[in-house]
Amino acid sequence: MKYDVIVIGGGQAGLAMGYFLKNSNFSFLILDELSEIGEVWKNRYDTLKLFTPHDFSSLPGLSLDSNSYPTKNDISEYLKLYAKKFSLPIQMNTSVNKLFLDNDEFVIKTNQGSLRANHVVVATGPFQKPNIPDFSTFLSEDILQIHSSEYKNPKQLTNGTTLVIGGGNSGAQIATELSKDRKVFLAVGHKMMFLPQDIGHKSIFWYFDKLGVYKAPHDSIIGKIVRRKPDPIFGFELKRLLKNGRITLKSRAISSENNVIIFKDQTQLKVDNVVWATGYKPDYNWIEIDELFNKQGFPIHNRGVTSRKGLFFLGLPWQHNRQSALITGVGEDAKYLYNQLITNSPNT
Ligand SMILES: Cc1cc2nc3c(=O)[nH]c(=O)nc-3n(C[C@H](O)[C@H](O)[C@H](O)COP(=O)(O)OP(=O)(O)OC[C@H]3O[C@@H](n4cnc5c(N)ncnc54)[C@H](O)[C@@H]3O)c2cc1C
Repeated sequence: MKYDVIVIGGGQAGLAMGYFLKNSNFSFLILDELSEIGEVWKNRYDTLKLFTPHDFSSLPGLSLDSNSYPTKNDISEYLKLYAKKFSLPIQMNTSVNKLFLDNDEFVIKTNQGSLRANHVVVATGPFQKPNIPDFSTFLSEDILQIHSSEYKNPKQLTNGTTLVIGGGNSGAQIATELSKDRKVFLAVGHKMMFLPQDIGHKSIFWYFDKLGVYKAPHDSIIGKIVRRKPDPIFGFELKRLLKNGRITLKSRAISSENNVIIFKDQTQLKVDNVVWATGYKPDYNWIEIDELFNKQGFPIHNRGVTSRKGLFFLGLPWQHNRQSALITGVGEDAKYLYNQLITNSPNT
């Protein structure tokens, strides 16, 4: 079967792309390996609340209706509703395991057979493979280790000393939750910056929006400043817990041995549980097209447009700006790619 456009990935990025394609004459199909729309969000930890408020958590064409800070289930349900409202053609349970070119056509090999397309949009998510440092393997088998992507709730851990490694918003939220019934250590490799979630009656995202902070292109002066800084932690709960000693801050974890983690400041800690909130790395091994990736395995692109005619990426961190991998920003990038598709296919 051949389509004008195949979108690989039916998360928020793939659905936003579908929204624009639906208004065109392109024949298209969205493929996703999971069995349910919104499953990525559903599988995240139980108490996950978004750091973006509801008025900064919508895709084009449909406002999210939720409490001020949506839960992960609000987003999961919202994505289902979104796909239904716009009757987006999605084929679930379809894992793409190979993408290559046959002359000028893309061949998309899946567990459900092969498809062909003139254009492909890869929207497989900014978070692919857990990025866990190699020294994790030096820890004894008795230590419970879990990556933040597998963490659901405190019941998964054993009693005893718990170390969360990584000071982004996931690490901060998980450490905060765990500190309710145990002593928690948090290893962070940078100086943490805390920002209020709301100022007066307005969310901080309202101010970001007015000041253009999150919309600043990655190569603008503001964009470069935001990029250099680690992501801020929204809200002050963690700051309070650090102050009152429920959570103890450690420097960057650099090595381990048996049941001990060693930190950059040469201190050590005996641990029973380690939560690796150390981020993700790309995994595009299934794309067999030359000259698409840099040495670190990230796509080489300009606003999602690659040097390979007809091949696009969507939902990448900093694809265009800080919002690109957030719900509120992916629509703008999808619209940009849609316009590129139209320009490349004037007769469609
Ligand atoms: C803990 C956490 C909290 C976050 N909080 C916020 C927040 O508060 N606000 C906000 O705006 N953003 C937040 N984000 C960031 C972002 O919005 C999410 O990561 C979002 O899920 C990214 O959407 P996506 O569509 O780009 O990718 P994903 O949601 O990862 O969707 C990608 C889809 O592609 C499919 N797929 C992947 N590979 C294949 C393949 N080979 N074949 C077929 N299908 C495939 C997957 O099954 C998946 O459904 C958060 C992220 C995390 C991890």
